[in-house]
Amino acid sequence: MFDLSAYNTFNLTVFAKDGREICSKQDLKEPVSRPYIILGGGSDVLFTEDFDGTVLINRIKGIEVSKCSNGYKVRAGGGEILDELIDKLLDKGICGLENLSLIPGTVGAAPIQNVGAYGIEIGDFIESIEAVDLKDGSEHVLGKDECKFGYRTSLFKEPEFSSYFITHVTFVLPDCFKPKQNYAGLQSVEFKSPRQVRDRVIALRNEKLPNPAYVGNAGSFFKNPYVTTEIYEKLKAKYANMPCWQQEDGSYKLAAGWLIDKSGCRGIKHGQVGTWGNQALVIVNLGRAKPHEITALAKYITAEVKEKFLIDLVPEVRLYGKNGEIAWDQIWAL
Ligand code: NAP
Repeated sequence: MFDLSAYNTFNLTVFAKDGREICSKQDLKEPVSRPYIILGGGSDVLFTEDFDGTVLINRIKGIEVSKCSNGYKVRAGGGEILDELIDKLLDKGICGLENLSLIPGTVGAAPIQNVGAYGIEIGDFIESIEAVDLKDGSEHVLGKDECKFGYRTSLFKEPEFSSYFITHVTFVLPDCFKPKQNYAGLQSVEFKSPRQVRDRVIALRNEKLPNPAYVGNAGSFFKNPYVTTEIYEKLKAKYANMPCWQQEDGSYKLAAGWLIDKSGCRGIKHGQVGTWGNQALVIVNLGRAKPHEITALAKYITAEVKEKFLIDLVPEVRLYGKNGEIAWDQIWAL
């Protein structure tokens, strides 16, 4: 049995049949039998029970930097810690990713969810992704357009590509500093350097979000919902102060954290699990939580939000059961 306690930031005591750290493309030449799961920092996953297969943990390291016509090209190993990469690049005077500071997890996992924060998404800066297909050991290089980046999603979430192990990510980063500061907390501050933006983002995150080193959590548990103009208008008529952002396609993004808060679920505790008092979107392990307590609370929250706002929340966190990834609908069927 392979202990997954150190490989999931929810700090759940769960086990896999087997586990392997992958340190190079060469390590992927050995065949892996199904079922398997690829993990980075384990910061965006919920194991709903023990996993009856092999866990492959991305530990491929290395950062190469070169100058290119529109800035810098940075090729990083998928096992590099994203926040450490951002810090090291700023030390070299290379900016662009600073709004993503302190997002937990690895470089190789970040494109799968297309992680985003404070108005930027990682996909905006990716030139290409190198991956090994575990089905046959073949090596692939995918350009940004092939990766189908969207809101917390990408090609790599499609079942056909779930066997792609991301070994390296190549970014193109600008050679001049243009702070992106349209989010609250970054507005009306005069940033003289990207390091100042990073410091500010870290301070904002530390104020609002629990540190997984002390309180088990996987960041935002649910995605922000997008609704039609019709639904938006009905809700806005009832809740005038509801935060919302109109999208280019005319739909509206709502803040899942606000909906959860207004449904009476901010800072609640159900046994060993709860929601964070400063950001209701984060489900926390209050000590010795069992996986089923987290899924039960997630179901409770979605039911409360549905009853009050008629909106279906969907998890951002990926769910894994005995045989591999499981859909949210399957959790409801349990
Ligand atoms: P917040 O500022 O209270 O905002 C709540 C939500 O409203 C956010 O999820 C954000 O959507 C959206 N929002 C806020 N200002 C916006 C703007 N100017 N334009 C468009 N959408 C806006 O949220 P918070 O908890 O302090 O989080 C701040 C940032 O950190 C957000 O970008 C959030 O996504 C990010 N974050 C990411 C994770 C993660 O696990 N990846 C965890 C916590 C926070 P978006 O989520 O689309 O940005």
